[in-house]
Amino acid sequence: MSMNKEKETRDHRTIIEPFKIKMVEPLPILERGERERILKDAGFNLFLLAAKNVTFDFLTDSGTTAMSAAQWGAMMIADESYAGSQSFERFERVVRGITGYKNVIPTHQGRAAERLMFGALVKPGMKIPSNNHFDTTRANIEQLGGQAVDLVIAEGKDPANLHPFKGNIDLEKLEDFCEKNKGSIPMGMMTITNNTGGGQPVSLENIRGAAAIYKKYGIPFILDVCRFAENSYFIKIREKGQSERSARDIAVETFSYADGCMMSAKKDGLSNIGGFIALKADTWVSELRNALILTEGFPTYGGLAARDLEALAVGLEEALDERYLEYRIAVSRYMGAGLNQLGIPTVQPAGGHAVYVDAKTFLPHIPPAQFPGQALACEMYLAEGIRACEIGSVMFGKNASMELVRLAFPRRVYTQSHFDYILEGMGEIAKRKQELRGMRMVYEPPFLRHFTARFEPIS
Ligand SMILES: *Cc1c(COP(=O)(O)O)cnc(C)c1O
Repeated sequence: MSMNKEKETRDHRTIIEPFKIKMVEPLPILERGERERILKDAGFNLFLLAAKNVTFDFLTDSGTTAMSAAQWGAMMIADESYAGSQSFERFERVVRGITGYKNVIPTHQGRAAERLMFGALVKPGMKIPSNNHFDTTRANIEQLGGQAVDLVIAEGKDPANLHPFKGNIDLEKLEDFCEKNKGSIPMGMMTITNNTGGGQPVSLENIRGAAAIYKKYGIPFILDVCRFAENSYFIKIREKGQSERSARDIAVETFSYADGCMMSAKKDGLSNIGGFIALKADTWVSELRNALILTEGFPTYGGLAARDLEALAVGLEEALDERYLEYRIAVSRYMGAGLNQLGIPTVQPAGGHAVYVDAKTFLPHIPPAQFPGQALACEMYLAEGIRACEIGSVMFGKNASMELVRLAFPRRVYTQSHFDYILEGMGEIAKRKQELRGMRMVYEPPFLRHFTARFEPIS
């Protein structure tokens, strides 16, 4: 295997998958003709495909992790008591250990945490700054009449820029924003890593800087930490003075600068479901727990089975294992470099969980109004059976700053020969890219339109 290291640290240049396989699942492999019929029936929306018709599912890294033997083992000893379960105690201990936050509120996934937090804090007209809000985060804020404001650094919006921390927030803009909107900012956020901006990391220095500004203006600082372990590893290998520290140590420091966090544990929780809110102080906690009981469940399970809490307790620790993180970061670096060699531009540098193909640059003959990202994603399905996700004008409408196709990599699921096979097919697409045509949206739902919109190719 040749997933070369960013920096040489051991005897071997090759980074291996640091696990062996105990359980396997067959890959569905279809003919192009079958896929053409299936895609048409799905309204050219890849979210509407049956998974059994997808060979390589890169739609998301969320909830698609292969769990470890240790996680499956822990699930078997789960304590499914309605109240006061020992599994909750284990989960709470792990979350407290990593975050340092005393109050741990489990939810069934990230957006449930968002709905509870924003429901308690956001009133119409209020504004919430972040580097970039993710789609569900933005939608939950807007649904309450609030405004989600993105203040990522300028380098973060330039797909070719090689800045090591393109997820950073623009501290000058943030300070200016806080000054101008005094009294209407109920909380300040930061997403690590920055999913919408290309899975790009945020530096410790930047988190520290944002924390100081939020503190100066008396604004609570809440981190969106879906990929805190990947972010910590990027800090270790890219930020000055951090290379000797453990990813865990860096994570602990990261959390120390904020007042709390929300997490979709379907990412760096290495599990298939789950999320949580964790808070340093007791403010809001009883209000959040009451709202949790109303819609999610009792505070010691929050909409999850105890076995899910067990899987998370183990998974959150495994995500900080540096052999795992080294391999994890190498996956997207390998795919990014492979695509670039074929003349397919990607957001630089490769993100932690995904590679983002820059469809606007790759397909200059398709204007953004004809969804070049959607057109490319559809062709990748037809040619290779790949399911990828458009992050551009379909997802964000007029708020889109780039036209990207995201290949998000499930954790511990695919191997290097899968990636090599995919790269062969992508090379063929690159050769005939002039034949690709734009799309028109023929059905548009009111919220989160990318999940259910329907399209037609423009002939
Ligand atoms: C996935 C994700 C969410 C939402 O979490 P779900 O578990 O999908 O509800 C929020 N923020 C970011 C950055 C995410 O990646």
